[in-house]
Amino acid sequence: MSFSALGLSAELLRAIAAQGYTQPTPIQSQAIPAVLSRRDVLAAAQTGTGKTAAFTLPMLQRLSQSDARHRAPRALVLTPTRELAAQVGESVSTYGQHLPLKALQIFGGVGLGPQTTALRRGVDILVATPGRLLDHVSQGNVDLSKIEFFVLDEADRMLDMGFIHDIRRVLKLLPAARQNLLFSATYSREIEQLAVGLLRNPLRIDV
Ligand code: AMP
Repeated sequence: MSFSALGLSAELLRAIAAQGYTQPTPIQSQAIPAVLSRRDVLAAAQTGTGKTAAFTLPMLQRLSQSDARHRAPRALVLTPTRELAAQVGESVSTYGQHLPLKALQIFGGVGLGPQTTALRRGVDILVATPGRLLDHVSQGNVDLSKIEFFVLDEADRMLDMGFIHDIRRVLKLLPAARQNLLFSATYSREIEQLAVGLLRNPLRIDV
């Protein structure tokens, strides 16, 4: 199996080759075609499996296929920690280096000012921790009504850290018609409940 057989664009294949990746990992070969065909995905995957590229690559392709007519974000990735937000944001920039998409990381522990300025300039992809995202929402700095693509990364850690209410508040702000992906290292009854409310006919991937 090669990356080109998964249906990824030339721009993404160039970025992948520059990273030195020769073949997709198991989660990538299962998730990428499903996400490109607009399916929701529920994936049980640990860090180190290549899960970040498994959602980032098809997300970038989906967004680059349609023109943005507005500067409100079209994709939202929620992560439990600032470290993970930074890491995912870096992957988005690396894999999307040949695409005209703008990504922004939003997390706490740093000033609101620079994030506010960047939000007002317009972004396509937001990678955020829930609390800081809601701070920006309550200040009117970000409009989530144009989100087409939503990813919950490390959902089990999010629940362990008590983010369930923040997640539900964010979900209420998103349009109903959107694609959803949920990644979690472990499954629990809480994750299943969250998945049932969030995902429509998801492809289930266990690696
Ligand atoms: P993740 O599971 O997303 O934290 O990724 C773990 C590491 O695997 C990251 O350092 C990636 O750069 C790397 N990686 C992701 N996909 C591939 C691949 N197909 N081949 C080789 N390395 C990869």
